[in-house]
Amino acid sequence: MTSDNTDKKTIKASGKVYLVGAGPGDPGLITLRGKYLLERAEVVVYDYLANKKLLRHAPLTATLIYVGKKGGGLHAFTQEGINQMLIGHGKAGRMVVRLKGGDPFIFGRGAEEIEALVAEGIPFEVVPGVTSATAAATYAGIPITHRGYTASVAFVTGHEDPAKKKSNIRWDKLATGAGTIVIYMGIKNLPIITKKLIDNGRDPQTPVAVVRWASTPQQHSVVGTLETITEVVHKADIKPPALIVVGEVVRLRETIDWYEKRPLFGKHVVVTRTREQASELVALLEEHGADCLEYSTIHIEPVDDYQVFDRELARIGSYQWLLFTSLNAVTYFFKRLYDLGLDARSLGGPRIAAVGKTTGDELLKYGIRVDLIPEKFTGEGLAESLIAAGVEGGRVLIPRALKAREILPEMLEGAGAQVTVAPVYQNVPPQGRKEQLREQLAAAEIDLLTFTSSSTVTNFLTMVDAASPEELHRLLDKVAIAAIGPITAKTVAQSGLKVDIQPERYTIADMVDAIVDYYNNQADSAG
Ligand code: SAH
Repeated sequence: MTSDNTDKKTIKASGKVYLVGAGPGDPGLITLRGKYLLERAEVVVYDYLANKKLLRHAPLTATLIYVGKKGGGLHAFTQEGINQMLIGHGKAGRMVVRLKGGDPFIFGRGAEEIEALVAEGIPFEVVPGVTSATAAATYAGIPITHRGYTASVAFVTGHEDPAKKKSNIRWDKLATGAGTIVIYMGIKNLPIITKKLIDNGRDPQTPVAVVRWASTPQQHSVVGTLETITEVVHKADIKPPALIVVGEVVRLRETIDWYEKRPLFGKHVVVTRTREQASELVALLEEHGADCLEYSTIHIEPVDDYQVFDRELARIGSYQWLLFTSLNAVTYFFKRLYDLGLDARSLGGPRIAAVGKTTGDELLKYGIRVDLIPEKFTGEGLAESLIAAGVEGGRVLIPRALKAREILPEMLEGAGAQVTVAPVYQNVPPQGRKEQLREQLAAAEIDLLTFTSSSTVTNFLTMVDAASPEELHRLLDKVAIAAIGPITAKTVAQSGLKVDIQPERYTIADMVDAIVDYYNNQADSAG
């Protein structure tokens, strides 16, 4: 497959440590500078609050070190241990990215790490990040300032030991001194914090929001007043990491709340595409707020033997039709073509057809405008369209998976065509992750399964490995199922399961629209 990292030039002259703000959680909220540095890192040292998805930007060869420091919990590494680690890699001449949640200089102990580097003469840079306070407020629909409500905002730590005699925080000034007060690390001390604010003159009716895991699919917000919020948080069982937003601006959430209102927010969706193809489906689902659990039930690999393909490619000019029945067929066809030192110019001769619009669009990326796309995006649909276009006596080449349904070649041969199937890739079921999937199903943590081909269904069932049809039903009892088209749906039905969602047109985009409609309807009927 394509490797993103091949053209990333190294920027290293000698060892240097980059303290990079990872942003609040949403992996899209890292800065361009942060991403640029991650792509070139040799060592990444990352925290509990930095989203693991960001690690995908790092080269495959980078050393990834988790130093998870959970507030109040077990410290995997002491601050001194982390400092020494950064110094060690810096001295060894490595390009180190120290990835910290939010902004490294806002309650992140970033300065302490820099001071340690300075003491050892190790070069460094600091890249700011979107701090969780602004992200939590924004993603909860709260502007932290607003002309009509407040002209000032204070960022405060709530972590300070409340038993401390002399506090570093002047609660007497703060309580009424700042319009909006955002408190980090304050959940444990929430009762004390609210009391201090009220005792020092803040109106007990002041609205308060608490936002947990802001800007992630797990985001959970609750609203109360200084008087009630402790009870509200207790009832909702909100634990760290969470932020407390105090001030009149919290009222605006009623109008502005957007993130949690997206149609698939809070839905846990299993994406059973192949890892190589999951991105489009995942991106669209996430756009609507879904939490995607990517289980790659198929792993795609090139075939071991290209003999047939190479032979037929050499006489491609004798073919009337070249058919592409999947994205993978396109990818692996061109991979082989390029490996042979050829390009799209070698494809003169046959007309070219694609099974559907997505495959057609993919071909366009290689400079191929297809001559035919069937109205029905299935193998049968393609066969019917070709037969209607006249294939009798014609030679047809189908580059495709080693194992695939035979319906297309059979229908074409039945209509008098001479068909050659040339395998260019193969499906291999991957190992592992089975336990995790079964646990999530058993704990009812999954709302929806998505299937984009028959083989994703069969491979999913292999992965679940239910002992009996009864067990399968029990595990999938509360789980909705979406299938991209009738063939996939039939495979689902054959395993005794029910398809709840199926789009009219068999594309990823239409399937996601159908999923959104399904949940919108559910929300409507729930009142
Ligand atoms: N440097 C970080 C803050 C680190 S202190 C920043 O700029 O955001 C850790 C505290 O930040 C947590 O206890 C919590 O109060 C807050 N926090 C960080 N990420 C958060 C998130 N995604 N949702 C809610 N609170 C978060």
